[in-house]
Amino acid sequence: MGKWAQVKCDCPNRIPLPYNTWHQDPRTLHKRVTPFQREKWRNEVFGKFECGHENGMIFEFWQGDLMQISYALKTAFASDSERFEIFNKIINISEYFDETLFLSPEEAELLKLEIEEIQNLAKIQGATCWKEWQIFVREIENTYFLDGDFNKTLQDGLNLCEASIKTGNPIELEL
Ligand SMILES: [Zn+2]
Repeated sequence: MGKWAQVKCDCPNRIPLPYNTWHQDPRTLHKRVTPFQREKWRNEVFGKFECGHENGMIFEFWQGDLMQISYALKTAFASDSERFEIFNKIINISEYFDETLFLSPEEAELLKLEIEEIQNLAKIQGATCWKEWQIFVREIENTYFLDGDFNKTLQDGLNLCEASIKTGNPIELEL
């Protein structure tokens, strides 16, 4: 599906289990593998690390929905582009190097504040910026969220920020 947002864990034993990737699928490694053996590999080895974090990540999710919120903010708050600085950054392709954007833990703090601001605006129905908020709500109503909904996406974003703040590792966003 592409477009992953993730924060690596910082466990001392962040070591991939042997044969834990797709190209090490037992079907390609050995000629004879039973469906049972393959299922066992899929459940017990694929994507697993010694430390127990799936894919060696504290948190990961499909960032496409977060980008949809970024586009809605950009449209609604076009006259105030500084307001959601990090949201604007994640949809600015020129910020990506080699199809990846790293947000520092400091930027994760800012993104967290921006998400909390959206949650707060939702509570007060955009009382302080009513016109912009109406545009934003309309944009969101016309958005199809592929992996959940608006609130889940904000929560995923918060989890991502908190993982970065806690570990000191950057948020990695992939195009
Ligand atoms: Zn770990």
